[in-house]
Amino acid sequence: MELWYTEEQTPNVRFSMRIKEHLYHEISPFQEIDFFDTYEFGRLFTLDGIIMVTEKDEFIYHDMISHVPMAVNPSIKNVLVIGGGDGGTVRELCRYKTIERIDMVEIDERVVRMCQQYFPQTACELEDERVSLYFEDGISFVKNSKTSYDLILVDSTDPIGPGEGLFTYDFYQDCFNRLTEEGILINQHESPYYPVNAREMVKAHKKIDTLFPVSMVYQFHVPTYPSGHWLFGFASKKFNPVNEIDFTKWNSLNLKTKYYNPELHVGCFALPNYVKELLND
Ligand code: SAM
Repeated sequence: MELWYTEEQTPNVRFSMRIKEHLYHEISPFQEIDFFDTYEFGRLFTLDGIIMVTEKDEFIYHDMISHVPMAVNPSIKNVLVIGGGDGGTVRELCRYKTIERIDMVEIDERVVRMCQQYFPQTACELEDERVSLYFEDGISFVKNSKTSYDLILVDSTDPIGPGEGLFTYDFYQDCFNRLTEEGILINQHESPYYPVNAREMVKAHKKIDTLFPVSMVYQFHVPTYPSGHWLFGFASKKFNPVNEIDFTKWNSLNLKTKYYNPELHVGCFALPNYVKELLND
């Protein structure tokens, strides 16, 4: 008998992967958590039937959420990660010895514990001494925190369920307030391609754009996400990520990356016309 995992990416489009084994299933207080072993993408982690991470392509998302802002400002010391329960973002951040503090606020402790078991390749740095884990809602954490951060990474789910409030103006305003004068915010911006994702992308971008002096969008390609074409929002109080960048310091770190490189950094901010039109509309 053949087993297939199928995600309904739009009411008219489905994406399927052949499954070797359904490894784990749980309904946590926040969401449905599943782990599979697939033939093509290795291990697969889903929340509420939506693909979060696969073993074979997770490097793309995690390279792009972390190395882009770290190359823009290699002096970043204090970082806040909202969501990110699989640990892949923290893993990449931990490669920078200059980072002193990483606070990760994940609403669902079960995601972290199960990723430590089934995705040790992404969750491998969560016990680094610079990392503090907070199992609470990122929205109230940012509202109530008194800490200043140089970088906030919103590594969220889609704007449904517990992730919905992470796409609001008030949340972005609270992030702005928590950032230093050199602060950078990276936001999981959804996809520009299918209208169901593009609507959320435009809404999120417009909110961030009204708050930050610098607000741009960059793209990357994840084979298992809807349409494969995904975006992050780059917002900053000071830095333009393309015009003013000097890669000397980042290059001197000699970090081996599988997706990110300085040429790609500059290129990823060049957007297709249909995306520019969505953003300017
Ligand atoms: N990179 C993947 C992607 O975007 O598909 C995965 C991101 S990570 C798994 C997303 C995490 O955000 C989930 O573990 C979820 O529990 C967490 N999350 C959702 N809403 C949250 C909230 N309000 N506060 C903190 N964490 C939240």
